[in-house]
Amino acid sequence: MPYNIYMTNPLLDYGEFAAYADIQAKDIVPAINIAITKSQAQLEVILELPVAEYNFANTIHALVEMENHIGNVWTPVENLLSLMGKDDIRDAANEARPLVVEFYNNYSLDPRVYKLIKDYAQTAEAKSLTGEKKRHLENTVLDFKLSGAELEGKEKEEFKALNLKLSDLSQKFSDNVTDSKFELIITDEAELAGLPDDIIDGAKRKANEMREQAASIPVGAWLFNLDYPSYGPLMKFADKGNLRKQLYLKYLAKATDAANRGLSGGDKNDSLNNEPLIQEIYAAKLRKTNLLGYKNYAELSLQTKMAPSPEKVKEFLQRLGTKAKPLAQKEYQALIEFQKQIGYQNTENNSDEVYPWDRDYLSEKLRKEKYDFDTNLTKPYFELRNTIKGMFDIAETIYSIKLVEVKGIQVWHEDVEIYQVQNKDGSVVGTFYMDLYPRDIKRQGAWVMPLLGACIESDGTKILPQCTLVCNLTKPNDTHPSLLTHIEVVTLFHEFGHALHHLFSKVELEPLSGTNVEWDFVELPSQLNENFSWEKESLLTFAKHYQTGEVIPDELLEKMLAARTFNEGLGCIRQLEFSLFDFAIHMRESAEDSRSPNDIFKEIVAENGVFSVWEGTNFPCSFSHIFAGGYSAGYYSYKWAEVLEADAFSRFQKEGVLNPSIGQEYKEKILERGDSEPPMDLFKDFMGREPSENALLERMGLEVASR
Ligand SMILES: [Zn+2]
Repeated sequence: MPYNIYMTNPLLDYGEFAAYADIQAKDIVPAINIAITKSQAQLEVILELPVAEYNFANTIHALVEMENHIGNVWTPVENLLSLMGKDDIRDAANEARPLVVEFYNNYSLDPRVYKLIKDYAQTAEAKSLTGEKKRHLENTVLDFKLSGAELEGKEKEEFKALNLKLSDLSQKFSDNVTDSKFELIITDEAELAGLPDDIIDGAKRKANEMREQAASIPVGAWLFNLDYPSYGPLMKFADKGNLRKQLYLKYLAKATDAANRGLSGGDKNDSLNNEPLIQEIYAAKLRKTNLLGYKNYAELSLQTKMAPSPEKVKEFLQRLGTKAKPLAQKEYQALIEFQKQIGYQNTENNSDEVYPWDRDYLSEKLRKEKYDFDTNLTKPYFELRNTIKGMFDIAETIYSIKLVEVKGIQVWHEDVEIYQVQNKDGSVVGTFYMDLYPRDIKRQGAWVMPLLGACIESDGTKILPQCTLVCNLTKPNDTHPSLLTHIEVVTLFHEFGHALHHLFSKVELEPLSGTNVEWDFVELPSQLNENFSWEKESLLTFAKHYQTGEVIPDELLEKMLAARTFNEGLGCIRQLEFSLFDFAIHMRESAEDSRSPNDIFKEIVAENGVFSVWEGTNFPCSFSHIFAGGYSAGYYSYKWAEVLEADAFSRFQKEGVLNPSIGQEYKEKILERGDSEPPMDLFKDFMGREPSENALLERMGLEVASR
């Protein structure tokens, strides 16, 4: 039966809140088609305007609102897809997605749109813009420019072709990593020494499953492979060093010329080697970069980030490295001492060195000895409801707000709760859905998805922000409440930090609103909020036994807090090696290089690292973040955001963790401001100076000379 567009479609015209309970798969494609048609028609109207009539509202702002028709349909679909994506919803979304992508591709490369933006930018009004409007116009021009809008003729065609080529090459890169397999088959039970029972059971199940494809696997065997849930625990717990060495070397040889498809590969004997792809990918990126007028890819990448220049980022990484290295060396030394102390015999029979495949194993054992407390002991102090209440109370105190549960709004599942953020006078700031428990068809992990950004529409309508806060925490039942590990508590606080950033926004233009900030700044509010789950003053307000109400005992708390900085130096150095490698690759002005990527990586590790790069390993070949993901010349942002967050939180530590006046200032100067000003300016406004890494170094346990 053809779809009747006159029938009501819950994805169209639904009022303030999406009608999640009513949405069906059959609604999705028709709604997207209607929305695209509307946006397209509105775009044509904007494009027909005579230049003499151009103003901000009827050009730049009108373009923002033109996209709303699509956003209003597509955002609820995407939200639903990750949370309640049944097969039919998934199929319908897969059918609709290419339509959306095609619309945006055409839009961003439409020369008429770029001409309109440039013509408006030349008007007297545009030149006198200030504040948000000025910033949004600049961002818009830059976005179009970086999408190749200024290129013409042959160059434009080449640019489009390079985009396609890069998307193919990245896909090939990540496929090669995923397809590189190795199965470690164990038949002697004694080899499993040290591994927890659930991991052993899992390994047996894997062997049984795999036998269907590879009959050679003996009955009763155990199987470990290079997938993290199998590889990670083996590296951490298996007593047999030779097993760990074997798997480690295979792991670090993924997507190299030595890689293959393992037992499931059948007769397929094609190359999975990513080394030539790294060069090809960089050559294509560099050509794009040069077409846009930049000298290397790092320079291009930073155009839309907070960090000022590649040189500054490199300096930042090296400075942090110099300061963290002594700590990492001390931690490395402690591992050597520990292996001697417990009489651990490594595979190379050399007790004066720790080898990379022993690192996680020895660290885990040492951590246990130094700090061990059973996580089961802290869990009763982090009952989920109690923790949420504690987290809300803290936010209510420091930001002078109220968090109120609301009913009567449609949800996609009965587990979903809805809360309003209100000012003290009861006026509504924004609304968020909270979906905390795992389900079969819910995506794993934790995240916040913005649904509506705070803004004022051109007709004066005020739009209140909405978002979804998602976790996958243990669900309570009739007999057991949900008792959280501290890691889960930290995750919850992290996501709540993102949600508050989104909801507090007082920005008027939607594209600058909430979490729409430069991406090396976006993790500041979330990571800063984690601190309230680590600081004694805030933690003690809610870490109470769910049955007795007793506050968490000091001894237990001290152990938990001390373990936070365990081997932080080594972790920091590893992140810095990856970041420096990323910049070394992407700051090159020629794709021709006599050194292989692995040679470059080795040089960096030799200069900055503690562990050495082992012969036969080739980490760059599986570094998908920067070669196949969005982190090219952006990997530094993990450490960058940590520095900002630790630095900003030091004001809370000095002036009072639960001090409402500092909370208010942080809210007004950072959380409410979205991307309305360059993040460095917001940061300096709050801190009264440029960022400093001292707070992070202190947290890691390093002495810092002056603050
Ligand atoms: Zn985050």
